[in-house]
Amino acid sequence: MMNLIRRQLATVLTLVAALAALGTVPSPASAQDGPGIQYQLHNCKMPSTTVRWSDQTGGGAYGQQAIEAAASWDSATPLTMQLVGASPIHIIADQSYWGKTDWAGLTQGAGGGIPSCTSVMGVWQNLPLKIMLNTYFTDDYPANKKQSVFAHEMGHALGIFHQSHPGTTCGGLGLMYYTVAFRYDVCGQFLPQTDDVAAIHYIY
Ligand SMILES: [Zn+2]
Repeated sequence: MMNLIRRQLATVLTLVAALAALGTVPSPASAQDGPGIQYQLHNCKMPSTTVRWSDQTGGGAYGQQAIEAAASWDSATPLTMQLVGASPIHIIADQSYWGKTDWAGLTQGAGGGIPSCTSVMGVWQNLPLKIMLNTYFTDDYPANKKQSVFAHEMGHALGIFHQSHPGTTCGGLGLMYYTVAFRYDVCGQFLPQTDDVAAIHYIY
């Protein structure tokens, strides 16, 4: 039964991912996708369960929170988040001034393109994915809020789309809920939650 639900969900999510790739992210699928299942998938994943990531933040507060974010996925899931300085690199963590956008963090494919893969639950094609914080906003964030954004963007790179949670209470809310204003400012979340961990177990 669960597999059937997940197959149906995967079909819906393929469509969502396709729309997202066009730059139009529709409202999340219903929170009634299945008991206990609110995560949604990009249907693309890392090439191995050892994820090689590179810190290009230049250190300081950003570097420390990128390291903490990677460590949180490493300790909460079967994935090994390995900090490396040489190829192959799967994820680059960085920050940059983007001005007054409507996002505090972003995940891009290599060369700035939209991350994509050619088959459902295939491997990202344009590695390394680059996760970036927008310093316009994040320079003023406390350490754990920076970490919440880094960890959220890493979640995208690992293959998790935004959580289909109503966002009215903190119960069951995951790191992959889309706004840091609710996720962190209201719910105080900066570590992978039960739903996020379930998504990783499903993907890998
Ligand atoms: Zn996001």
